[in-house]
Amino acid sequence: MIVEQIWTGNSYRNFNYLIVCPETGEALAVDPLDHQKCLAAAKEHGWKITQILNTHEHGDHTGGNAAMIAATGAKLLAHKNAGRRIAGIDRGLRAGDIIQVGKSVELEALDTPGHTMSHVCVLSHTDTPALLCGDTLFNAGAGNCHNGGHPNELYKTFADQLFKLPDDTLVYPGHDYIANNLRFTLAHEPDNKNAEQMLARVRDQDPSRAMVTTLALEKEINTFFRLRSPTVIAKLREAFPDLPDDPDAKTVFVKLRELRNKW
Ligand SMILES: [Zn+2]
Ligand SMILES: [Zn+2]
Repeated sequence: MIVEQIWTGNSYRNFNYLIVCPETGEALAVDPLDHQKCLAAAKEHGWKITQILNTHEHGDHTGGNAAMIAATGAKLLAHKNAGRRIAGIDRGLRAGDIIQVGKSVELEALDTPGHTMSHVCVLSHTDTPALLCGDTLFNAGAGNCHNGGHPNELYKTFADQLFKLPDDTLVYPGHDYIANNLRFTLAHEPDNKNAEQMLARVRDQDPSRAMVTTLALEKEINTFFRLRSPTVIAKLREAFPDLPDDPDAKTVFVKLRELRNKW
């Protein structure tokens, strides 16, 4: 399986992706907002885009659909409940559905509500799994919930699904927010040396050659995975003085999400 990460260079800092079967050259385009860059990458390598996956219904993820379908005739895949908000879905996805790309690539759909209530992530069935996570999980961060989502649901998605994936899972998010997210981590966990080192490494990175993290690394540098850290809890109490002595993970997550909204 080939994962081609395409940096759009737009103000929303979107990443688009092509997931390619190396045997047949067939490709699935994930949220191809910058359809021109996606088509150019496919042409350069001789790949044929046959499917489009929208992780969710926001315009910065669906805005390239029409032009991409016009250029390729690709079939459109999205969450089974996204039909009212995304035009022209050919295949509605449920948890556990398998998306075949060419001969050799299998992707499994995960139903991951929180950023919106009809958001899917996909996980590759490969020796080293790859997670295409849209606006649910970012490098060192989590998606917001104020355009059709809910923080309680996002917590459940993190705790019940993402946290349980293999540590070596590669993380491919829908946006490049890593530097700002690491600053948020460090503001709420100032003694996190891993986050500090990571920020020094990625602060000036070229997003067209972005560092790809793993879930193991995210568990070190992403505040939204560090809900038991005494430093995080103590810092949180500065903002929320009535926080209980031993807050549960969900409370910490939801309060962090609230602080991140104003960050
Ligand atoms: Zn979004
Ligand atoms: Zn987005």
